[in-house]
This record gives sequence, C-alpha cells and structure tokens, in this order.
Amino acid sequence: MSKVLKFEGLLTNSGWLCPAYVKMDEDGNIINLSQTTPQEVTEHVNGYAIPGFQNAHSHSFQYAMSGLAEIHPDPTSQDDFWSWRETMYNIALSMNPDQFEHIATMLYAEMLSHGYTHVAEFHYVHHDKDGKRYANHAEMGERLVSAAQTAGIGITLVPIFYQKGGFGQGPVEKQRRFISATAQDYLDLLVSSEQATQSYSKANVGLGIHSLRAVDEDSIRTAFAEAKNLPVHIHIAEQLKEVADCLDFYKQRPVEWLLNTFEVNQNFHLVHATHLSDSEVTGIAQSGAHVVLCPSTEGNLGDGIFPLQSFQQQGGKWSIGTDSHIGLNPLEELRILDYGQRLTTHRRNQFISKTNGDTGLFGVDMALKAGRKAMGNSCESYFEVGQPLDAVVIDAQMPLIATSRPEHILSTLVYSGDRSHFMGTIVNGDWKVKAGHHLKQDDVVSNFKKSLAELSIR
Ligand code: ZN
Repeated sequence: MSKVLKFEGLLTNSGWLCPAYVKMDEDGNIINLSQTTPQEVTEHVNGYAIPGFQNAHSHSFQYAMSGLAEIHPDPTSQDDFWSWRETMYNIALSMNPDQFEHIATMLYAEMLSHGYTHVAEFHYVHHDKDGKRYANHAEMGERLVSAAQTAGIGITLVPIFYQKGGFGQGPVEKQRRFISATAQDYLDLLVSSEQATQSYSKANVGLGIHSLRAVDEDSIRTAFAEAKNLPVHIHIAEQLKEVADCLDFYKQRPVEWLLNTFEVNQNFHLVHATHLSDSEVTGIAQSGAHVVLCPSTEGNLGDGIFPLQSFQQQGGKWSIGTDSHIGLNPLEELRILDYGQRLTTHRRNQFISKTNGDTGLFGVDMALKAGRKAMGNSCESYFEVGQPLDAVVIDAQMPLIATSRPEHILSTLVYSGDRSHFMGTIVNGDWKVKAGHHLKQDDVVSNFKKSLAELSIR
C-alpha cells in the first residue's frame, strides 16, 4: 500500500522543499515529491529530512574494542598504530560467527541512530579461529549481511584480499583468519560474498585489497582485472612506516606506485591516503579516484592530517567512514576533518567550492555523493522518484533548529548538532530509529551484551 509522509522540509539538490510531501510505494520507493499532498497524509513528521549519511569505511568487530586501547599499562612506553594493532588482532582471533554478528548488529543499529543509512564493510576476518575456511567461504561476510538486515541498514560488503604480513613477507600467525593465499582464493571468496548478499535487497559487494603491503603486485593485478564496475577499496598511506617500507620495497611511495602501476579511475576509493606528496595529491585528483577519510579514527590512531585544501582545489572528491568506530557521529567526522584543516592552515573556509559557500551543505553533499560511489551507487540526487526514501530527520523542535531559517539549518546541524538533533532515521520509507530508539533495540542490546560477556574483553 502506498503512503505519504509530510515533513516540515526536505533537502533537495536545489534547496529546501518546505513543506514536503513524499509519496511512496509499498517498498518505500518514492513515487511523488511535492509541496502539496497527492492524497491523505499517513504521518505528519515535525522535522527536516536530509539524505541518510553514507559510512564508507567500517571494520565492524573493532567496535567491541572502543576505548580499550586507551589504557596504557606502561605509560612510559611508546604507543602507536602498531601497538593498537596487537590489541585488535587479539580481539579478531577470539570471536565466533555468532558473536561477530551480534557485535555488527549492535554497531549498525547505533550507526542508524546517528544518521547513517548505508555502510561499506571492509571485511577481512574470513576464516575460523585456526585459520581454516568455513564450509561457506563467505560465512563471516554472510553474518555481516544478516546483521545489516536485522538492523535495517544498507550494506556494501567489501571482502578483503589479505595475503601477506608485509612487503615481501609471508603472513604472521595472528593474521591467520584473514588470509587468501592466492588471487584465485580471493576471487572464490568474492563469488561467495556476492552470493551472501543475494538475500537482502539493500546489500551488494565491492572489491577490496587490504593494503599494498598485504598483497603482491601480480595478485593485485589479477584481482583488479575482475573488478569490472565494482567499487574498489584499499587502505593506503595511512602510516609513515608504511610509506617508508613501500619506498624500500618498490622504490616509490604507495600512492605513486599505485598510480604508476595500475589504471586507477573513479571506481577507486583510497582509504586514508594521509601521507601524500604534492604530485600524489594531483595524481589522485586527476585519476578521478576518491579518498575515504576517517577523521575520528585517524585522530585516535595518530595517523596524520590529509592535505584536503590542495586536493579539493584540484577537484578531488572525498567521503567519510568511521573505520574503528571510536566515533560514530557523522557530524563529528565532518567537524574533526574541517577543524584539523582550520588549525593547520589558519583559515576557516575549508568546505567550499566556487559555487557553494555554505560549509555545512558542502560537507554533507561531498560526503553523500562520494560515499554513494563507494557503495557502487551513482545516484547524485538527494531524493528522487524511483529511489528509496533513505533519510535522517532533524528535529524541528531543537531550539537552534526551531529558530533557524531553512538555509541555516544544515550549517547549524553540522557545526553545533549531535545525535540528539535527530528525531529518527528512515530506510526504504520505514522508521528504523524513532525518538532515539532502534525498533529492535532490546533484542539487539541483549545479544550484544551476551556476546561481550562471553568474550570477556571489556
Ligand atoms: Zn580501515
């Protein structure tokens, strides 16, 4: 049965539609968008709808360790990305498929309540605790799809090709759950992963290489040949040590080597790309490849600051991701990204283009469009007839929103808002989160608590 939601306003590519009546078919696809109602209104929503945020980089299991790597038994020792990784490996080795699914379901429910409606899962925990394949090669990926379906978020499952422990080195014991020894093993996994997405209409697959240090050149080439039109995700140049190791091994910097060795195009989503030379910044922008920035995780891990201003001036496009999930708030991701740039350049106008001086709108627009591409979704309309209604709704009763003209709402939200500003999140026309409460909150939380108790890591 069709239904009509009335919003105080709805953000379109040409500005706010106020009020907005959205008519949908029974699957939640938009069949009419207008300022007057085509039929009786099903629900009056006292809020402003904006497109759901796209979370372009996630390792769901790492949610379980949020905050744990902040305890330093020896405060005088060096703690960095590589010591954090040891904690992460120990957790990755300990989870069974049920626990893995329960943690992901909790995380995805939390993502929805923060306004994300789609996630790209950069997934590399493929095998059992001994490193043996499950009977279903994509068992763990299937669990992620199931978690997304239970929570009600869209998912792009990106099974990750992870082959080695470092440039020219075999894998270490602790990486045994991640490993595809050959390109053929990985391609088998990709096929199984694609099958795992068939049962959920909001799931699809991408192709992923863990990093240049984790897969050899020939195997990357074989995998890329199979990418066809899939989005391609790869961690790159996150850490200075990784840049130094790449220079040692390939005599080129990571992004330099990638651009010189493969045909990099707009289907590529380079995760982090923190440490770049000027010519690498230009090279990424000219290739049309996107970068995926994860500001809260990059800050937490002490990675460094991406050269955003120069990249944007050359037409570079970026999305956001929550990566380790130390932060889950898309507004905070945008703010940390912007403020890192302001603090280092002493200029306030970072999120602007020649045609758009509204920084809140610029940040939301960039993260949305590049984020959708990271999911293999080329739709650039915020909302469009024929597309599902996937939206986060800003509460029109929040004091600063209630007193703002529509053109000030987005910047007010991005720079002063938090989760309490959202009255709910809608996917395919249905509320998944309403009044801060996920529809399956009690079950999801109870399974999460049970699994965390079993794991005894917190
Ligand atoms: Zn990552």
